Amino acid sequence: MGRCSQRGVDDATRGSGDRDRCLDRRDADEAELASKRSQGGCDGGAELDQAASSITTLGGELTAAGLSPGTTGNLSVRLTDGILCTPTGVALGALDPARLSRLDRDGHHRSGPRPTKESVLHAAIYAADPSIGAVIHLHAPYVAAVSCLAGLDPYDAIPAMTPYLTMRAGPVAVVPYAAPGSARSAAKLGALVARGHRAILMANHGCMAIGGSLSQAASIAYELEQAAMLHLVMWGLPVRRLSASEVSELRRAVS
Ligand SMILES: [Zn+2]
Repeated sequence: MGRCSQRGVDDATRGSGDRDRCLDRRDADEAELASKRSQGGCDGGAELDQAASSITTLGGELTAAGLSPGTTGNLSVRLTDGILCTPTGVALGALDPARLSRLDRDGHHRSGPRPTKESVLHAAIYAADPSIGAVIHLHAPYVAAVSCLAGLDPYDAIPAMTPYLTMRAGPVAVVPYAAPGSARSAAKLGALVARGHRAILMANHGCMAIGGSLSQAASIAYELEQAAMLHLVMWGLPVRRLSASEVSELRRAVS
């Protein structure tokens, strides 16, 4: 295994206790925000500040974990009146909460710096399911590697070896390759989200992790990278996969 690959293993597996504590804290803040939003009683300024702060903090965490190389990856949160997302050309570890892009509900740029060119994908995901509150797109190393494999099952691309991705996201779907930000990918992503997929590989590219909140989406993104790493590291070894009945039991436990 090369140095880069080993670094990916270490980064993907270390500090999970700290990470879970951060996610738990943010979960509480986001649950309050989502509750206010659903009741239509959210102060727009407070909502915006909370979303900007969550995006900026998570951008730093994903970068520190090695899941967002260079200026790759983008994050967004649904607001009452649109979408807040990361700008184009800025590393997720160097985000400024006052310099994020605001889009309307249809994904059109309204204010702030120019959004990521993949914002069309985020908008399509929000349009597909009103329960979606946050979207994370990453070129995480193992996820990107698995996305380049030929013959992936389009509705179950990474076999279940441990319970966690199954519990948090269910089966991993795949969107066929298209140029970044293409309308074709947006339509495919929307259809998969409408079918209930929350962890989606984009062929020869990366992934989408999708949740009711940014914490939930982050949790899926971390588990997806871990599952992709296991899938590659165990390649050719006599793996005991979770059986169909074990997977069904896990899904029933969280539904
Ligand atoms: Zn991308």
